[in-house]
Amino acid sequence: MENFFNSDCHLHTNYSYCGSPEMTVERIANLMKKKGIRCIAITDHSSHFYLERNANRMKACRNSG
Ligand SMILES: [Zn+2]
Repeated sequence: MENFFNSDCHLHTNYSYCGSPEMTVERIANLMKKKGIRCIAITDHSSHFYLERNANRMKACRNSG
């Protein structure tokens, strides 16, 4: 089982119309660390314009430790 890892393939950030206001990228990154989730798919419905912004913020969270 060493080639398997925890993932969540359907998450919404606070940018999505159906996302909770508390689900910032920073909070998602913290929850990933806490729960041992190594892979996520952000599935925001509202716009693709936020994709790059979310990706850059997630990279910043990952690089901060
Ligand atoms: Zn959805």
